[in-house]
Amino acid sequence: MTLVTANTLSDVNHFGGRFLAPSLAQKIAVAMDSKARTPYIAAVAAYLLGASVTEIVPAAFAIAAGLIAFLAVAAFTQVQEEVPVAPVSPLAAQLAALQAKNDALSAALAVVQKRLSSSIAERETLAVELTIDPLTGLQNRRGLDAAFAECGTDTVMALLDIDHFKKINDTFGHDAGDRVLRDFAARLRTALNDSLPIYRIGGEEFVVLFPQAEMATVAAMLADFRADLKTSNVLRSNDAMTVSFSAGLALHDNAEQTFDTVFKQADERLYTAKLTGRAKTVFSDDVNSNVIAFAA
Ligand code: GH3
Ligand code: MG
Ligand code: MG
Repeated sequence: MTLVTANTLSDVNHFGGRFLAPSLAQKIAVAMDSKARTPYIAAVAAYLLGASVTEIVPAAFAIAAGLIAFLAVAAFTQVQEEVPVAPVSPLAAQLAALQAKNDALSAALAVVQKRLSSSIAERETLAVELTIDPLTGLQNRRGLDAAFAECGTDTVMALLDIDHFKKINDTFGHDAGDRVLRDFAARLRTALNDSLPIYRIGGEEFVVLFPQAEMATVAAMLADFRADLKTSNVLRSNDAMTVSFSAGLALHDNAEQTFDTVFKQADERLYTAKLTGRAKTVFSDDVNSNVIAFAA
């Protein structure tokens, strides 16, 4: 076993004595947590005991010194970790409070914005629903005046009314009548290439506005549509009944004409079509204003 001489020991002891100055040793012990304190004190005692004799066992001395060093480092690290946070200045505290307030306001604003956008979306959906006829998916009467104003002059207004529709209901039932209305609407849409809005303004009455059009052209188009209806399977509820319609056309050719005056004229011509046998379109010739009936 190797022995350390008194000379060497006194050197170490001299260094150790300085290193372990009582105040420092105490400081370390206080800084330590209770679990580390006991081995630390034991190690310090072993060290001092070992240093006070002339001959010591180097291994025990080394272990004691190592343990002291390890526990001291651990204690200092802990002390560093537990350094209290510097007191916050009043300005910094004020800033933090403002920041917190700002965060809270931003969160509240986000909630309000979300609600607002969803209520706008709801209103838009509602507005669309208000203008759509649920049975046929066509536009309803709402919006027709605005559309008339938007189209301006040189617009042909066509007023269509299914002939003897009541008889269809009475004969085949209300549901069959509904199917006829839906099919009529779909076919009229197709006949117009889906290019113009169609307004269902009453039970079996429809309006279409043809901007920049002539009545003769519109009447010819309606004659084709009338012919197409004769081939419809849905509309031919049975072999004994086909569906036809009558129409009256009026031209909005003067900026002073209101919706009502143009509509009244189209309605009068529709009435003429009904009186003169139905299944026809009545309009006036632009040039001489004679009323011409088109029968399909
Ligand atoms: P006209 O050839 O002179 O136009 O005669 P019409 O029988 O077509 O006209 P009338 O005004 O006498 O009858 C229209 C019928 O349409 C009366 C009404 O009960 C029916 N009707 C209105 N709305 C609807 C609907 O949404 N569905 C169904 N199935 N019938 C409806
Ligand atoms: Mg009617
Ligand atoms: Mg009718």
